[in-house]
Amino acid sequence: MQTSIKKKLVVVTIVYWFLLAYMIAALVWWFILLEKQNYNMTNLRILQVSGRIDSTSYPIEYNKAVAAIIKEKKRHTTTYLSEGITFLALILVGAVFVYRAVRQQIKLQQQQQNFMMAITHELKTPIAVARLNLETLLKHQLDETKRQKLIQMTLQETTRLNNLASNILVSSQLEGGKYRITREELNFSDLVRNCTDDFRHRFPERILRSGIEPEVDIEGDPLLLEIMVNNLLENAIKYSPKDGMIECRLSATNHDIILSVSDQGNGIPDKEKRKIFEKFYRIGSEQTRTTQGTGLGLYLCKKIAEDHDGEIEVTDNNPVGCNFTVRFNR
Ligand code: ADP
Repeated sequence: MQTSIKKKLVVVTIVYWFLLAYMIAALVWWFILLEKQNYNMTNLRILQVSGRIDSTSYPIEYNKAVAAIIKEKKRHTTTYLSEGITFLALILVGAVFVYRAVRQQIKLQQQQQNFMMAITHELKTPIAVARLNLETLLKHQLDETKRQKLIQMTLQETTRLNNLASNILVSSQLEGGKYRITREELNFSDLVRNCTDDFRHRFPERILRSGIEPEVDIEGDPLLLEIMVNNLLENAIKYSPKDGMIECRLSATNHDIILSVSDQGNGIPDKEKRKIFEKFYRIGSEQTRTTQGTGLGLYLCKKIAEDHDGEIEVTDNNPVGCNFTVRFNR
């Protein structure tokens, strides 16, 4: 977390606890004062009764009058207590809401800042690389192998830029309710195979093993499903070593369709396993992170899975790495 945001959170927390403690103390003080007043009033009324009724001559009347006064005192105490408890409950409920809202707001602000830092980098790098490659091609007479390599690298950068643009556009459209999800009968096996073939082509040095059951049909949106598969494969490549094997599997039973992508990278610590699906969330801080990314990929995968009546989860891969599984109901 950035230092300025950390400081802000500390200040907000201190002010919040101070105000809450002040309100509770004021409430308790209010109760003590009322009770004191109640006690004084009771004594005064008993004194008045003693003046009016002689307790030795008329003990029954006297005791009756005192009992009535004490009953009245108890009734007042109960009223003050119940009012005080209601106030306290309202204050606490309100305080929890305010605290959560403020914390969420600060967290979102921090995530948006991270996102802005990441996106600037993500946009500038592929553009700079593509530009440099094209300038080299234009200025120098290169042999065919080098030319092909430069063109291949430029293509990779533009694909990355394209994926990034899709992630940003689709997530904002899905959130704003502007994206109309199509529900067409499609061959999911072909879609997944096309994605893995594309990755093999883009990253020929990587080991990508696939086990795709043929003719698995699904009702869904081809663009969204493609984005989801690509994001999972992209992450497996990004977050695992060059010689680590990546596996992509698709299978189906009568009840569900299961897509899994596993890698042999560093894996994901247990306490981060839920958080990585949050919008803009990236493990580590923006300064210490070495891999590129925006924190939108898995958020989008989760959203797409849920929009297709499915769910996504991450587990540890054996012996190392992680395994993302998407399960769709049939
Ligand atoms: P990013 O653009 O940062 O890749 P994602 O939403 O795709 O955003 O992923 C969120 C975070 O989850 C990443 O920053 C990374 O730390 C972690 N992560 C995602 N996939 C993997 C993986 N296969 N192995 C290890 N960590 C991963």
